Amino acid sequence: MTGSILLHGGEVLTDSGLQRTDVLVRDGEIGGLGEGFAGETSVDCSGCWIGPGFVDLHTHLREPGQEHKEDMASGAAAASAGGYTAILAMPNTAPAIDTADRVAASLGRAREISTLDIGVAGAVTEGRMGERLADLEGMLAEGVRWFTDDGDSVASAGLLHVAFQVLHGNDATISEHAEDASLTAGAIMNAGEVADLLGVRGMPALAETLIIARDIQVVRATGGSLHIQHVSTGAAVELIAAAKEEGLPVTAEATPHHLAFDHTELEHRDPRFKMKPPLRTASDVADVRAALVDGTIDLVATDHAPHSEAETIGAGLEDGAFGVIGLETAAAAITTWLGPKPEVLFDRMSIAPARIGGFSRHGQVPVVGAPANLVVFDPTAEWVPTEFRSRSANCPWIGRAVRGRVRATIFEGAISFQYGSMSPQGHHP
Ligand SMILES: [Zn+2]
Repeated sequence: MTGSILLHGGEVLTDSGLQRTDVLVRDGEIGGLGEGFAGETSVDCSGCWIGPGFVDLHTHLREPGQEHKEDMASGAAAASAGGYTAILAMPNTAPAIDTADRVAASLGRAREISTLDIGVAGAVTEGRMGERLADLEGMLAEGVRWFTDDGDSVASAGLLHVAFQVLHGNDATISEHAEDASLTAGAIMNAGEVADLLGVRGMPALAETLIIARDIQVVRATGGSLHIQHVSTGAAVELIAAAKEEGLPVTAEATPHHLAFDHTELEHRDPRFKMKPPLRTASDVADVRAALVDGTIDLVATDHAPHSEAETIGAGLEDGAFGVIGLETAAAAITTWLGPKPEVLFDRMSIAPARIGGFSRHGQVPVVGAPANLVVFDPTAEWVPTEFRSRSANCPWIGRAVRGRVRATIFEGAISFQYGSMSPQGHHP
């Protein structure tokens, strides 16, 4: 345990907006809100918003099996630099996290990381192959409450139906990567005029909406809890809005890249804009933004997907891997492209994902006695991302000016990141 920390000069999130006050962090908790405190360490928070640390329900940490892209330690360092205090690791590792033993091994590794909470999601089907259900009960017994075949959709309505029945009564959610693979084989970007211009195959919006429509029907039949990952189209937003209107247990996320960019970014064949689902039309981007602001889309999730340079830039647009990193730039991207009110930023990036993902020590409006899991965020700082704590640099924001920067991250009462420090541990050079 480190000594006390004074966060001074900032504006703190409250139930009625921001309020100018100092924050004393002591013994892992918020020890005081007000003026006149002294701390052993102090952080200048002038011009900054202080709120609950960000929570990401969609992170690819690549461990085990693909540590040349990322591992738990490098991913954790990237997360802290992005203001995150909790992240949920996706199970599409090699091997996939699809058994109780593999969950236990990953949670064991996660507990070695002392700078943020790492939760582990389990695969829905064995090896994510879409043939037989994975050992959902065994993974439930290890504490898993989030299941996904991310990278692919749950292969059939039948498997989804049985999975929801197995999970029934366990407060567990299936998180769906909505992509009907029969419509996307061989495609590398959104179907439309840019794909036509480049002469490449495109993925239609239909690939996303078919799976969401299917899943909502299965939710209606089973009462299962469904989360839709990385919503990319206006048509998907309409389906989710209707399901919520009906009162079905459906939640949804949007990524920073789908909120910021449309498919014209690919006109120059830059593989850093290649992802699944693909960047869509300007109209889709407008619909996804509006849905995030009005709450139809509950939260921002990064889909942080590290790949090496050889697998992305080196491979070119047509052969390059799908996916981009996002932990270190998410808050800046949301600030730059949406300019949300602080209440909206903290809700969509912390409070909602903590509640929906079950991270009970995170996502709380700061009050005395609460766990000190906090971010100090400067909403006006301008910067250009150039290098990353992530092991990979496949980032669409490289070299692009953004606004909004994390000044410090506090995890369980200790500084896990501080801007200007050389190490992710918060030591000054
Ligand atoms: Zn996905």
